[in-house]
Amino acid sequence: MSSNGNNAPVKLPIYLDNHATTPLDPLVLEAMLPFLRDKFGNAASNSHSFGWAAAAAVEMARRQIATAIGASAQEIVFTSGATESDNLAIKGVAEACSDKGNHIITAVSEHKAVLDSCKRLEKSGCLVTWLPVKSDGLIDLDQLKTAFTDRTILVSIMAANNETGVLQPIEEIGRLCRERGVLFHSDAVQALGKVPLDVTRASLDLASLTAHKLYGPKGCGALYVSQSPSVRLVPMIDGGGHENGLRSGTLNVPGIVGFGKACEIAQNEMPEESCRLAGLRNRLRDRLLAGLDHVVVNGCMEHRLPGNLNMSFLQVEGETLLTGLNDVALSSGSACSSGKTHASHVLKALGLSDEAAGSAIRFGIGRFNTEAEIDYVAGRVIELVKNLREVSALS
Ligand SMILES: *Cc1c(COP(=O)(O)O)cnc(C)c1O
Repeated sequence: MSSNGNNAPVKLPIYLDNHATTPLDPLVLEAMLPFLRDKFGNAASNSHSFGWAAAAAVEMARRQIATAIGASAQEIVFTSGATESDNLAIKGVAEACSDKGNHIITAVSEHKAVLDSCKRLEKSGCLVTWLPVKSDGLIDLDQLKTAFTDRTILVSIMAANNETGVLQPIEEIGRLCRERGVLFHSDAVQALGKVPLDVTRASLDLASLTAHKLYGPKGCGALYVSQSPSVRLVPMIDGGGHENGLRSGTLNVPGIVGFGKACEIAQNEMPEESCRLAGLRNRLRDRLLAGLDHVVVNGCMEHRLPGNLNMSFLQVEGETLLTGLNDVALSSGSACSSGKTHASHVLKALGLSDEAAGSAIRFGIGRFNTEAEIDYVAGRVIELVKNLREVSALS
């Protein structure tokens, strides 16, 4: 235990890296436990009650997830996570639609699972347009309009960025795609359960989701695959023909049950929780801006996830800052590149210098963070940045 200025106790270490993963909600764990114990059946076993119980639980979760995004249950395909969903969406469309074209449009600030899937396809003959983003992190819709060709089969643009929290205008993007008969995929991982997400409003054909970013378990994701209009998709994993043949393999029943519960909770709590998170985020930002010179917020504040703050602390190395903040779990960028440390491709895409990108910290505020924790973190960051700057001024 430690205390902040108001003597409100905070338990250390503080977890403030909720874009990398989130803790399991206790209610989610409770929903999962029976399926790790006596309800262990295989959802594909249709000859006995163990299988029927598992299948019924999976179908309930499918409805819960579908409801959270305005889809119908048959449009949810379970996967091992959003990396797999991104791969299935992009490579699956490229293969299924090769008779129609070979051109894909995406943006440079996408998650690696999208970027690297597109790079792989580029090697096998696809053409990829890599849209830049403006300094606020948003794509330019006019640039998107001019990028379409009569060979374009897919646009893949994320709903919310995992480093800056910036929300792309997916409804406008969806409209442009629909008008041209081009499929629209969105990596909607960070948006799910945090901001309203409706596959019909956004004219989405495909959307990647994962449980562990919204207080569900790791290793369980889904791909939304529209049935009207229907999407042609070639599976990446062949086998028993599960999930309508789109993703073979025994279903992760406890994970899926947890994913469904997590969606239900997030949907119920979103109105209140998003206000609370935005309040905490703005409090943190205001304290850091008031307490320090030479700090900048990266990405636009207006179109942004409520729990995200990304700031550069100029003249300070982000990695040094993180090492010094040993009682706060934070990151300098995405956790998705297996711990490699180099300047974030997302921040570079916003036009940040190497120095500004290298001094950035991502704060990911989540459901279980408190005001006392935010105040503690603000105080620690201010103190440490001042110390580090003093030391570097002396040397
Ligand atoms: C975390 C994340 C992923 C990867 O999801 P996994 O389920 O961990 O594979 C993909 N896209 C975004 C935007 C993410 O934040």
